[in-house]
Amino acid sequence: MTKVNNTYINGNFQKSDYISYLDLINPSNEKIYGVLECTSVNDLEKAIHAAFIAQNACMSLSISERKHILSQILTGIIERRDEIASMITLEMGAPINLSKNAHIQMGIDHLENTIHVLDEYKFESNENGYKIIKMPIGVAALITPWNWPLNQTLTKIASAIAAGCAIVIKPSEYCAFSSKIIAEVIDASDLPPGGFNMVNGLGADLGPVISQHNLVDMISFTGSTEVGIGIQELAAKTVKRVSLELGGKSVHIVCDDVNFSEAIPTAINQCFINSGQSCSAPTRLLVPEHKMEEVKSIATNHINTLITGDPLSENTHLGPVVNNKQYMSIQQHIKNGMESCELISGGLGRPDNIDKGFFIKPTVFSNVPNNNALATEEIFGPVLSIISYGDLDEAIAIANDSKYGLSSYISSKDTEIAYKLAQQIKAGQTIINKVSRGSVPAPFGGFKMSGNGREHGKFGLEEYLEVKAII
Ligand code: NAD
Repeated sequence: MTKVNNTYINGNFQKSDYISYLDLINPSNEKIYGVLECTSVNDLEKAIHAAFIAQNACMSLSISERKHILSQILTGIIERRDEIASMITLEMGAPINLSKNAHIQMGIDHLENTIHVLDEYKFESNENGYKIIKMPIGVAALITPWNWPLNQTLTKIASAIAAGCAIVIKPSEYCAFSSKIIAEVIDASDLPPGGFNMVNGLGADLGPVISQHNLVDMISFTGSTEVGIGIQELAAKTVKRVSLELGGKSVHIVCDDVNFSEAIPTAINQCFINSGQSCSAPTRLLVPEHKMEEVKSIATNHINTLITGDPLSENTHLGPVVNNKQYMSIQQHIKNGMESCELISGGLGRPDNIDKGFFIKPTVFSNVPNNNALATEEIFGPVLSIISYGDLDEAIAIANDSKYGLSSYISSKDTEIAYKLAQQIKAGQTIINKVSRGSVPAPFGGFKMSGNGREHGKFGLEEYLEVKAII
């Protein structure tokens, strides 16, 4: 069985004196494909101390040195992109085409965009009678999930290095092999030893030590709202900055001027990309009530064209979800939904002809009331709720009647109306007539229980900076 060691401290991969192990399970066939050697708490302490010592060296790097290091990491990721893509597919089941393209490209975009930000960003300015300088906040602990692993780790790493922060990262335990490649790429760069440290293991074992540590100046966390709240509570004791990127239940308002036979399949694809495991997935599809029957028929026809199965096949649209816990939780949501709402596609159990692996039938419910759990809870799988609205005022009221506010989508031929709607939606992003946010370095983050931070580009960099006035 291949063992993987993610413990990288002060410029070296470390072998702990005490190691606990975690079996890594292939979500496509439920077989163990590897074993993670979990970092001990003792080694986590060493990693945080190494970052603390390296902080001076990191903040002393010139802007051109930071850009040079980010460029080295960019080159390393590009060189190993196929290897990383295969690992992502093995670890979390993303279809290989998606891993090779969107998964890898998002990581590359963050590095490229951050290098451009450094070309223009003003770390110093002269104000009226005083000077402002932007200083790195200090040691940054980065905690990331498994669903878009390269995207989430590299946006944080790029911004922290650009700001001059030393890093301790705990990637998801479900992404140990792809994370190790990231550590190897950074190891080959000119970042000072201790400027980047990696630990891995169960979040419940390592997370509370990180959250409470007095040498950690900031935590940037992406993951579930529940874990984010726990981190913030523990971190409060040391008044460290906590930047949270959490869950979502994003809305897609389809206006009645669009071509429904194009818009509805696109909306379903947006929701089901990555097998529905995206925090910003538009899982509440709002359609005019007089179009509901037409939408149901288009949706059912489209679902029948989607292929769920082997993520290594180039034809697959949906792979498995990441693990048995997610599988069981999604099944429960579908079961509850079937008791209270109209199921038009999918349902309980695995798709036909699949008897192993955490595969979910792409599932669509219609006429879902916005207060039903199908519309209020983040399901994190290929489950879409279609909700009807009377007029656009009602659509906005439904959109905003959510504890979350991460992303939102609008389809309309009238871009002026779309823009007016966007201004009223309480969410960190609104994407108008586009499939995804693409490679633009627009800030990403949530309102309400979707979080409090912003990532990507200039706003991502500023998360890691303190503002200092010199008078
Ligand atoms: P998770 O919260 O279970 O785990 C995320 C990370 O936190 C992992 O590395 C995990 O090991 C660690 N962790 C677990 N318990 C911890 C603790 N007590 N203290 C500190 N760290 C701990 O989430 P997940 O299942 O890996 O990912 C799915 C969730 O992430 C979904 O809710 C999704 O919406 C959210 N997410 C949000 C964004 C965003 O940008 N807003 C992006 C992707 C995923």
